[in-house]
Amino acid sequence: MKKLAILGGGESGVGTAILAQKQGMEVWLSDQGTIKAKYQEVLDTYNIPWEQGGHTEERILGADAVVKSPGIPDTAPVVQKLIQQGTPVLSELEFARPFSKGRTICITGSNGKTTTTSLIYYIMQRSGLDVGLAGNIGRSYALQVALEDHDWYVLEVSSFQLDNMFRFRADIGVLMNITPDHLDRYAFRMQNYTDSKMRIIQNQRPEDYFVYWAQDLLIPEELEKHAHGYAPQPTPSSQPARKGDPTLCPFWDDDFGKFGLRFSQLGQHNKRNALAAYHATRLAGVDEQLIRQCLETFPGVEHRLERVEEKHGVLYINDSKATNVDACYVALQAMERPTVLIVGGLDKGNDYSTLFPIVKERCRGIVLLGADNTVPKAAFEPLGLPMADTHDMKDCVEACNRMAREGDAVLLSPCCASFDLFKGMADRGEQFKALVRAIQ
Ligand code: ADP
Repeated sequence: MKKLAILGGGESGVGTAILAQKQGMEVWLSDQGTIKAKYQEVLDTYNIPWEQGGHTEERILGADAVVKSPGIPDTAPVVQKLIQQGTPVLSELEFARPFSKGRTICITGSNGKTTTTSLIYYIMQRSGLDVGLAGNIGRSYALQVALEDHDWYVLEVSSFQLDNMFRFRADIGVLMNITPDHLDRYAFRMQNYTDSKMRIIQNQRPEDYFVYWAQDLLIPEELEKHAHGYAPQPTPSSQPARKGDPTLCPFWDDDFGKFGLRFSQLGQHNKRNALAAYHATRLAGVDEQLIRQCLETFPGVEHRLERVEEKHGVLYINDSKATNVDACYVALQAMERPTVLIVGGLDKGNDYSTLFPIVKERCRGIVLLGADNTVPKAAFEPLGLPMADTHDMKDCVEACNRMAREGDAVLLSPCCASFDLFKGMADRGEQFKALVRAIQ
C-alpha cells in the first residue's frame, strides 16, 4: 500500500496519518467538517497534506486504501464509491495493528466498554506492565504505535470500528453484552448490530481468549452459531472470516461472590465489569492479589454512576453517559433510595417499555430534559408518576429539587444522546454537576 487517504481529522485520523507517514506512505487527510486547531497544527508539523470543509473525491478514490473515522457511516457517498470500486476501507485499529509488537486486550459491548477498559488499564499499569490505553478512549492507538509502541494495549472497540476490521485479531477479546443501540447505523436490524459485535472473535485462534458475560441474552446463542460455521452478516465493506475458536472464558454474576471479590463501584452491572477485568488481566498474567486490590481502589470513570454530592439529604448521581435504555435500567437497579429520574434528549428510536416496572418500583418521579420531550412524555405519562417537563439543565435541576424528598436520590441517566441541548454527554454531565454543587 503506497497511497493512503484518511477520512476524518480527529484523534484517530491524525494518529493514522503520522503512523502511515512513518511507514513511508503517501498520506492525504480529508475532513468534510472542520479540523480542530490542535490537529491542524500537528498535521502541519509533520508536513502531512490535509483539507477540510469537503472531500476532493479524485484524490480519495485514487488511494490504494482508505482509513475512515468510525463516525463516518458506510452509507456516506464517498465510502459507497470506494466500496463499489473495491478499495479497502479500514478502521484505524485494522490499519495500525501490523505495525505494532504489542499484544491487545480488546473490549466491546453495548454498555460497560469505557468502565471495563479503564479498569483493565488501571490494573495493568499498576502491575508494572508497559501498557497503552486507546481505541475510543484517550490518545489514538495508531499514534502510540508510531511514537512509543507498547508491550500491551487495552483497546475500547466500538461496533463502528469492528465493521471495518478484517484481519485484526484480539489476543484477549472481551464482550460485555449486546443490547439495542445505534440501530440507525444498522438498517434498524438488531442482527446486523449483533453481527458487528460478534466480529470481536473473528480471526481469534485457539491460543487467544474470549471473555464474555454468559448471562447475556444473545452472546451464548451467537457463539453457538459461530461454532457451526456461521459467518456474520457483512456490512457493505466487511468480509468476516472465521479461523477457529478462541479459548472461551465465560463469567456469571454469581462468580463475583464465589470469588470473594470487592469492587469500588456501585451496582450489579459494575460487578460484571469487575469480573470481565478480573479474567482479562489474569489471562494477561497479572498477579491475582494485585487485581483484587485494584478492584477495591479503582476510582471510577466520570459520568458513569458518578456520585456528585448530597444536598439537604438528597444524593445527586451523574450517569450522563447512559445514552441508551439498558444503561438507564442498570443504573436504576443500582439505586438504593427512592429516585427522581432525569430522562430525555436525542432519542435514537428508544423503546422505554422495558423500564416501566423498575421505574414504577424505584422512582419518586420523572424530570424530562430535552429540546423536544414528546416521545418520553407519551411513554412515561401512563405510569402516573409526578412529572416535570424541562428544556435546559437549570430548570431541570430546580425541578428535581422540588420533587425530591430527604433520603431520595436524583439520577441523571437520560437514555438518550445529548446533542439536542448540549455539546456532548460530558457537557451535559458537567452542567449537571456544577448546578448541583451550587445548590444552597
Ligand atoms: P460504554 O463505553 O460501552 O458506553 P460505559 O462504561 O461508558 O460504557 O458506561 C455507559 C453506561 O452504561 C453508564 O451509564 C453505565 O452506568 C452503564 N453500564 C456500565 N457498565 C454496564 C454493564 N456491564 N451493563 C450494562 N450497563 C452498563
